[in-house]
Amino acid sequence: MTPKKKDLTPGEKPKSDMAVGSPDYKNTVKLPSRMKADTKTLAPAGTAAEAKQAPDGRAHSGRNQENKPRGEKPQSSKPQGDKPQSSKQHTAKPQEEKPQGSKPQGEKQRTAKSQGIKPQGDKSLGIKPQGSRPQGGRPQGGRSLDYTPRTPAPEMMPVAVTRQDDDKIPDFYLRASVKPKNKEKKKGALRVIPLGGLCEIGKNMTLLEFGNDIIIIDCGMAFPEETMPGIDAVIQDYTYVLQNKDRVRGIFITHGHEDHIGALPYLMKDLKCPIYAGRLAIELIRGKLAEKGAGLRGVQLQAALPGDTFKGGNSFSVEFIHVNHSIADAFALAIKTPVGVVIHTGDFKVDYTPIDGGPIDLQRFSQYGKDGVLLLLDESTNIEIPGMSPSERSVGESFQRIIQNAPGRVIVATFSSHVHRMQQIFTAAEKYGRKVALVGRSMLTVFAAANSLGYIEMKPDTLIDINDIDRYQPEQLVILTTGSQAEPMSALTRMAFASHKIVEITQGDTVIVSAHPIPGNEKPIYKVINELFRRGAKVIYEDLADVHVSGHAFRGEHMLIHELVKPKYFIPVHGEYRMLFKHAQLARDLGMSWNSIFILNNGDIFECTEEMARISGYINAAPVLIDGSGIGDIDNRVLRDRKLLSDDGVVAISLVLDKKGKFLTSPSVQAVGFLYESESAQVIRECSDKITSFVNKCAGQNRSVSSIIESGQLRDYVKSFLFEKTRRRPMILISVTIL
Ligand SMILES: [Zn+2]
Ligand SMILES: [Zn+2]
Repeated sequence: MTPKKKDLTPGEKPKSDMAVGSPDYKNTVKLPSRMKADTKTLAPAGTAAEAKQAPDGRAHSGRNQENKPRGEKPQSSKPQGDKPQSSKQHTAKPQEEKPQGSKPQGEKQRTAKSQGIKPQGDKSLGIKPQGSRPQGGRPQGGRSLDYTPRTPAPEMMPVAVTRQDDDKIPDFYLRASVKPKNKEKKKGALRVIPLGGLCEIGKNMTLLEFGNDIIIIDCGMAFPEETMPGIDAVIQDYTYVLQNKDRVRGIFITHGHEDHIGALPYLMKDLKCPIYAGRLAIELIRGKLAEKGAGLRGVQLQAALPGDTFKGGNSFSVEFIHVNHSIADAFALAIKTPVGVVIHTGDFKVDYTPIDGGPIDLQRFSQYGKDGVLLLLDESTNIEIPGMSPSERSVGESFQRIIQNAPGRVIVATFSSHVHRMQQIFTAAEKYGRKVALVGRSMLTVFAAANSLGYIEMKPDTLIDINDIDRYQPEQLVILTTGSQAEPMSALTRMAFASHKIVEITQGDTVIVSAHPIPGNEKPIYKVINELFRRGAKVIYEDLADVHVSGHAFRGEHMLIHELVKPKYFIPVHGEYRMLFKHAQLARDLGMSWNSIFILNNGDIFECTEEMARISGYINAAPVLIDGSGIGDIDNRVLRDRKLLSDDGVVAISLVLDKKGKFLTSPSVQAVGFLYESESAQVIRECSDKITSFVNKCAGQNRSVSSIIESGQLRDYVKSFLFEKTRRRPMILISVTIL
């Protein structure tokens, strides 16, 4: 359904075309200075004037019943002058207008304010260019999180902008803030602060804040990118959480995937509060906290069943709604707040024939939709794929067919957390009289957790120890292994490269890779598959057969959720920018106004009430890198050095001098990862001679060795010599011993 375009009446005065989130701006003009005095007359968007426009029961629904997006304002057809009516809406405290940047059309800008994180303290409306958000590692404890907007570039001078019509795609970062009315201030607004998971896949974490209460939804980690050599994991900057830890009432986990629970062991070292999650997630979290040393003391782990509701302070009550996903016990959350209901879908798909637990509880979504939902946060992973995702059950049918026809062993690699997939493999194996052995640490961990909860249905003698596989004929065996993403140390990778202690791939084996390559993993996965073929195995992977379905909803399923929930405001989550954008567009196509759709960045502070919604500022949410036991102690310089070392290696020079600066031995030069054997001796000898003559020359000019080292002259000299010789730029380390 395509919303009607709003007719514009010539000469009609715009009521509040600078409303919160005014999406489209054209004809930007400079803000006249006299406007600055008018701040007291500001009216928040979506207030009384708008309410009048929608007098029905769902007066503030983001979807207009007549396909006319809510809050859409008549546009003035008057030529834009120096003083657009609407510019008042943008003005705030005069002295704080400076950072408000004018901007070339389409350039990203956003609200950013010095008091961004103080509750209810919005005074300024400084617009800050997107690129100037604070970057870098985690701020040191105790540092104020207040941000001072930087002076804008000359081309970023104040402007007033006018929305033309609601069909134009908005610049999501040019969302003007509007002062809340006193009434709203008293009542308070709900604040939603994503600390991770937006404009990225991974490290999901969102804060909900109202009054004195904060609840946290999910606390996941992300895997390091290629540009982060040596980094083990990436987590959120949760400084803000720790600074407000007395106000944190609980952590609510949607499900047990790493991108939703992986950062808990770090956060829980410094935060003690209850964690609410499904039963499987609780078991996985328990193991994680114990293993990583965060400890369980002071942390209450509360298992949630579908339909359970838990309080989060006085402001929140959170209901767990059953959904389908690629792990057991996955939930959406319905959070009641003083200003309305928030629905967070978590990761989900709509599976009408799931393996366990029944189909997603669409009735609950629908009921909340009927009662009125203030805000929907919906995941966006597969928003680019049209239609509906196939049922998990279809994979089971493929397994049965393959296992039935396999002449020898069947080795299945899949995600260890995918309990339903595990179950389907057990079912198929039993059907054709095979035993199942498990390989890989995480496979054993998740199996133990799932089995302890009774989630795996199998005969008592189906599971055998991997060390006992030699007792069975190949056609009696199914081996379930980790390594579907070709992780270097995983069991499947080891089997492929013949370095696994127990399982060696031979002719007659059938290997099923039951997973979709996570973007970036394609190359290593195909390398493993090539190697498996080379060893004579028959390899079946996603391209060849239906051995994997996604656990994330496709486009059609999201449409269903939007239609059922009918939120007033919508924030797409769990996806890279293009996914969030496509999801926003979907919501728009379904009839929501651009005014009600917000694409956020990690760290943005989104505020809303029944009457208004806006981005009111941000807190630091730069990624924090974990290297070994260190949290956030790696900065860009370390990463740059590591990259340099991996590119061109290192050359270490050591000089031994007497007190007068004379060489006692000729300089020693050592190179690691820099030169090939054949050229090494020659270049090192020349380098040593060059250093001797350079130092002697400097001594002749009365320049001491320490001065040429400290000033970097010697390093530069060696650097240019080596570059001339080899066209490479190794890292150069110089040490001096004076005897
Ligand atoms: Zn996820
Ligand atoms: Zn997930």
